[in-house]
Amino acid sequence: MRNPNLTQTEYEREMLKKTIKRFRSKMSPSLARLAKQSEAVAKQFIPSPYEALDFGTETPFEAGKNNQGIYGLERIYEDRAVITPYFECSAYCRYCFKKTRTLAGSAKRMSDEDIEKAVQFISSDERIRTVLITGGDPFLDPELLKKVLDKVFPIPHVRNIRIGTRNILFSPESVTDDLAKMIASYKRIDYHDPRLSKNISIGLSINHVDELTKEVVRAYQRLIKEGITVWGQVVLLKGINDSVRSIRDLVEAFLSTGIIPYYLFHCMPVVGAKHFRTSVQKGLDILRELSPYSGTTAFQYVYVTPIGKHRIAPGHQLEYVDIDGQRYIRSVTPYKAADFLEFSDSDQLPPLHEVNEDGYIVSHYLDGHDDEEILA
Ligand code: SF4
Repeated sequence: MRNPNLTQTEYEREMLKKTIKRFRSKMSPSLARLAKQSEAVAKQFIPSPYEALDFGTETPFEAGKNNQGIYGLERIYEDRAVITPYFECSAYCRYCFKKTRTLAGSAKRMSDEDIEKAVQFISSDERIRTVLITGGDPFLDPELLKKVLDKVFPIPHVRNIRIGTRNILFSPESVTDDLAKMIASYKRIDYHDPRLSKNISIGLSINHVDELTKEVVRAYQRLIKEGITVWGQVVLLKGINDSVRSIRDLVEAFLSTGIIPYYLFHCMPVVGAKHFRTSVQKGLDILRELSPYSGTTAFQYVYVTPIGKHRIAPGHQLEYVDIDGQRYIRSVTPYKAADFLEFSDSDQLPPLHEVNEDGYIVSHYLDGHDDEEILA
């Protein structure tokens, strides 16, 4: 509750103090330099009083990264498994839950035994075709990453390995020719039976064209030159990239430098992220406006709930429900409850999810809004 004796400036200062007390901040040297030149970058990494607003969950994913009693493993889909070898990042994006003091700076990592158990789990189920190696950031510990790749690559039924990273923005100098060659060595084309080929690709998180400095572009060119596909993943962020111009600029820069536009994520309802969250409809409107332009609709627009990704195409009619005075998006998902529960450690669906008469999961996702956030 706001103290009525405080002026607006004093109140904002008090909220900023709360933010700093509750969340950690970290920037790499090159990112700190970039933040001085770009407001869009600064807003993503410099703590703000708005983060102290009471909102959101602290652990949207961490609990899931301990599936089947195997630390660092996660599986929610039939054909995919996620491995998180290293949980730390070299900068904390303000719209992400990693900045919480319970998670930030913990430098947790999978042990050799954890990796062995995860690999055994993946080896034992032929339905798993894709392994996503994510974080924190797997590029922060290339030796550990190599250890995981050495074990995952030989599994016969694993055909796709994808590495999720934002460290190319934080430390472009870390993507050396040697690292690019090491990653490319886990690619194999089977000319007799292409279905047996194995691909490795990078999911690169970039939210604004200002992030594509010459060092960053050079870094991912090293990967592309080695034949590695780079997918561009973007989070829709209010006041940063939530305009047709901004997303179009980014897509054009992706396409002209060899990045394939992949996901446009709606910003998740995590702690301290309320002021970054647009309405879900805003992303649909932007994609509709971009539809006439080449390549710009290549993004898959998604929001994420604990049961997985929800894809929404331009023209999709959102269904709204009111829960405790807040606007939620209700959606019949393509995921069957029985399938989800087969891979879950729990015998129940997460809160705000239910099953319809056909056995599909119905989800409820907290919407954002498009008004400017007011600290009052
Ligand atoms: S790099 Fe990724 S995991 Fe790390 S803080 Fe940013 S969004 Fe979160």
